[in-house]
Amino acid sequence: MAERRRDERGVRDVGEGAQAVGEPWRRRVRPEEAHAWDELVVTARRTVSDGLVVGTSGNVSVRVGDIVLVTPSGVPYDRLTPDDAVGVDLDSRQVLGTLLPTSELPMHLAVYRNTDARAVVHTHAVHATAVSTLVPELPSIHYMSGALGGPVRVAPYATYGTEELAENMLQALVGRSACLLQNHGTIAYGASLDQAFDRTAQLEWMCRLWLTASSVPGLSPTLLSGALVAEAGERLRGYGQRG
Ligand SMILES: [Zn+2]
Repeated sequence: MAERRRDERGVRDVGEGAQAVGEPWRRRVRPEEAHAWDELVVTARRTVSDGLVVGTSGNVSVRVGDIVLVTPSGVPYDRLTPDDAVGVDLDSRQVLGTLLPTSELPMHLAVYRNTDARAVVHTHAVHATAVSTLVPELPSIHYMSGALGGPVRVAPYATYGTEELAENMLQALVGRSACLLQNHGTIAYGASLDQAFDRTAQLEWMCRLWLTASSVPGLSPTLLSGALVAEAGERLRGYGQRG
């Protein structure tokens, strides 16, 4: 098995309220956490079925109170069961599960500590990652960047799983709900798993659009001004069902 579990030596089946020191992750999963975990697994599988992630190269998290549920490291999403819930607190201490959290945990926690995010989706989507190697900011090819807070920035490269990468990401996310990670991928957050997923899909789509338009020999795409993107962003905030 490629799965990595914490060293379980000495782990006893302690009951709630009887946690052994140093083994706090053995507490039971609460009903709201179990529900959120089910939704997280569905979202993680969607990232694969929609082509945003190959294998286990992305990760998904959702916040429930002060706990962050997060996909474990190196486990294919179709193998995740309700018993595999992994949870950490905002200080990165594992409180639920025996599987190791994703190695990209510093990025997820940095988002939760610094924004009102309830969910985060990180992928290595191919078009977005391609764009991250070409420009410092996704050119304003479409007004939908207004839905992400404005032109999407590219966070400078740093090794995956490091605090440096998390810091670069935070800088790129100022005023935005998504960014690209240079030579790496995407990260997006939202008020729900569906919103974080949809923002990721929109970002990948815009990157694909720009690459497509840019690939016509002898022509280059027209771009939108910052003012036009901001105007669209304002309208998008009021978009949807009324009443
Ligand atoms: Zn990654």
